[in-house]
Amino acid sequence: MIGVVGGGVAGLAAAYRLQQRGRDVQVYEASDQVGGLAAVYETAGDPIETFYHHLSASEGTIVELIEELGLGEDLEWRYKTDSYYVDGVVHPMEKAWEILAYPHLSIYDKFRLAMLVKEIDVRGGWPKFDTYDDITDFEDVPIKEFLLEHTTRHVYESFWEPLLDAKFGSRKEDVSAAWLLGRVKFRGERDPIRGEQLGYLDGGFGRLLDELLAAVGRDTVTTGARVTELTESDGAVESLTVERDGERETHEVDGVVVAAMPNVLEDLTGYPCEIDFQGTVCSVWSMEESLSDTYWLNIKDEAPFGVFIEHTNFVPPERYGGEHLYYTASYIQSPEEDLWQMSDAEVESHWEAGIEDLFPHFDPDSVNWVKTARNPRTAPIYERGYLDMVVPYDLGEEVAEGVYYAGMASRAQYPERSLNGGIEAGYACADLITNGSVR
Ligand SMILES: Cc1cc2nc3c(=O)[nH]c(=O)nc-3n(C[C@H](O)[C@H](O)[C@H](O)COP(=O)(O)OP(=O)(O)OC[C@H]3O[C@@H](n4cnc5c(N)ncnc54)[C@H](O)[C@@H]3O)c2cc1C
Repeated sequence: MIGVVGGGVAGLAAAYRLQQRGRDVQVYEASDQVGGLAAVYETAGDPIETFYHHLSASEGTIVELIEELGLGEDLEWRYKTDSYYVDGVVHPMEKAWEILAYPHLSIYDKFRLAMLVKEIDVRGGWPKFDTYDDITDFEDVPIKEFLLEHTTRHVYESFWEPLLDAKFGSRKEDVSAAWLLGRVKFRGERDPIRGEQLGYLDGGFGRLLDELLAAVGRDTVTTGARVTELTESDGAVESLTVERDGERETHEVDGVVVAAMPNVLEDLTGYPCEIDFQGTVCSVWSMEESLSDTYWLNIKDEAPFGVFIEHTNFVPPERYGGEHLYYTASYIQSPEEDLWQMSDAEVESHWEAGIEDLFPHFDPDSVNWVKTARNPRTAPIYERGYLDMVVPYDLGEEVAEGVYYAGMASRAQYPERSLNGGIEAGYACADLITNGSVR
């Protein structure tokens, strides 16, 4: 039997592929439900993810899986709307003409920004089209230095820096230029008239997890089961121990896929992962009214949250029984931060005041409900030298034969962690177990 530690999308994808290849699998999930970071809340209509989720057009593996599971018809590609909140004004920044009309960058700044996003290097006045082909060339280049050289100081300070503050907070200057270039490649093609499309599964990504669970079989997955120990014999993994309802059970295994955060891998095997992670505090607000025309609002002004997302400007409120759904979220670099120290109720009242500051017409009485999720490890800091710290899929040499890792510290989760990356990591481990190589 192959034991899988963790019933998030990576663990379920590993189990799915292993079963397809005829292997006997058991997934052990510590919490009461599968899904991990892609878990959902109920609404008056479809469920909604506790942390905001969408797909980019470059993510093919998840699209194939959605089709394979019979949900292809329900995968929708919708134009998103991005805006920037500056000096009390929401500036749409999605379509070419909106970017041209944006008053806080000069035409030259916009040209340099556009060239970088199009991956054209115009330094020296002559366009070069291959400078950014190999992002690993930029692994050791500090992002700020890179942006100052490849765009302009004003583009850095007015455009990138607020985004980096929201994404990486106090760690922003540790991030590599390779991450940024990887993100540029990761995003889909942008239509100059209509902007960029993002993918969303009608009914939410919880449906993908439900279908995966059904495909692997509920008997294959044990929830409320925390894996606490792995043992080895003669250099090969031999058993895993699970704590369940206060009882300990030990199961013999031929192999183990650890599909959880790298601290879980370290606890179970001693394998040290040097990647630093940040946490997230994220609230979902259900309201009676729409507050803006935008899906994704980046905020340059002072605000108590890093991003404000009006989900129902992407997926219509009719899907949620008429509820207008919003996310407010901030990344956390250290548990010492005030936000992390606050109770959920304190976060919510702090953020409610922040919403009121951004949108003076916001009426707190129009909030139907608010729910807050938090997790101390939700995204890696993609700092310089990151790729050297990635955890290999096959830990046969480093830990013991038969030990594999599919999680947020896997190569497939670079340059951005995603459901697609989780699936690819799970598949990679299954491929190595069954074929000895990644497909
Ligand atoms: C704020 C936020 C926004 C995001 N936005 C997007 C997006 O727009 N698009 C996108 O595609 N992705 C997005 N993601 C990323 C996506 O959610 C993750 O990449 C993906 O869910 C990771 O799946 P995983 O299975 O690797 O890990 P997880 O989901 O963390 O699953 C690991 C599981 O292991 C379990 N576990 C831990 N320890 C043990 C143990 N000892 N024994 C048994 N079980 C254990 C945990 O309970 C958990 O269920 C976002 C994530 C966050 C937090």
